[in-house]
Amino acid sequence: MDRKTLTLIVPCYNEQEALPLFYEETCRVLKDIPYDAQLLLVNDGSTDDTLLVMKSLAGQDERVRYISFSRNFGKEAAMYAGFCNAKGDLVAVLDADMQDPPALLPEMISIIENGEYDSVATRRVSRAGEPPVRSWFARKFYRLINKISDADIVDGARDFRLMKRQVVDSIVAIGEYNRFSKGIFGWIGYRTYWLPFENVERVAGQTKWNFFSLFRYAIDGIINFSEAPLNIASWFGMVMTLMAFLFLVFIVVRRVCFGDPVAGWASTMCVIIFIGGMQMFCVGIMGQYIARTYTESKSRPHYIVAESNDDEVAKIG
Ligand code: UDP
Ligand code: MG
Repeated sequence: MDRKTLTLIVPCYNEQEALPLFYEETCRVLKDIPYDAQLLLVNDGSTDDTLLVMKSLAGQDERVRYISFSRNFGKEAAMYAGFCNAKGDLVAVLDADMQDPPALLPEMISIIENGEYDSVATRRVSRAGEPPVRSWFARKFYRLINKISDADIVDGARDFRLMKRQVVDSIVAIGEYNRFSKGIFGWIGYRTYWLPFENVERVAGQTKWNFFSLFRYAIDGIINFSEAPLNIASWFGMVMTLMAFLFLVFIVVRRVCFGDPVAGWASTMCVIIFIGGMQMFCVGIMGQYIARTYTESKSRPHYIVAESNDDEVAKIG
């Protein structure tokens, strides 16, 4: 019987220092795994020599395939390209910086082979080495998104996952343009085992995230997987209208029964500015959803491939 195959998808953006270390460590781990492994390296428009590193790895090891984008399309697009082109019976996604330790793979594979689970996800149980403000926002984000959406996202969840073929096919079938993988993984369901591990620092190179890009990512997650902000906006509008109506009745009654002159320019201005602000805020929320509908409706490709050492890779996907 043929050996089963395993594809490792590795999104890389400016990882010239980390990639060789990653490759070495992965080869060490793969030696003990009874699968025919394939590395699928996705170069997400790196501006350093990442592509050269990939080419040299592919030259010395036929298990290495690479896909190189025409520009930087983001990690989500890189992962999607990986899923679309992964051929393995089992497929894993992991970062090139070894923050997703390849050494966990044997354990993940044995969990799937036991048959009880269709995918193994990982979460880091510590946030050592991370600024406290970021950890605080991250924890709040996970609590919020779990409350208001169908996407079941565990605190500290990483994109590092191992899954069966069927799960990969389901992910590929979700072809939306605005992708938030952590949400998609949860949304498709299946039996998922959560494997905890201690946070590992990046082995080389720089992280591509700062506080604001993470904040935008969190907003993306909420808007892609929940309509709660829209509902809040309309509830807020209704409550305000009701309050205004009651206040109007109160003022009319007071004028008719007691003949009070209406005073208070300052308080009126406050109310007007407050309501104006709330209106702009709610219109802004709607704008966020409309903007996403707009990008979806253009149905542009998720990524464009400039080159690859595999002829079967579609140039546009
Ligand atoms: N990455 C990517 N495209 C991007 C940004 C990042 O493919 O636009 C890759 C990056 O090379 C790495 C992974 O995504 O393999 C995670 O990135 P990073 O380590 O910067 O994120 P962090 O671990 O700090 O969350
Ligand atoms: Mg990292």
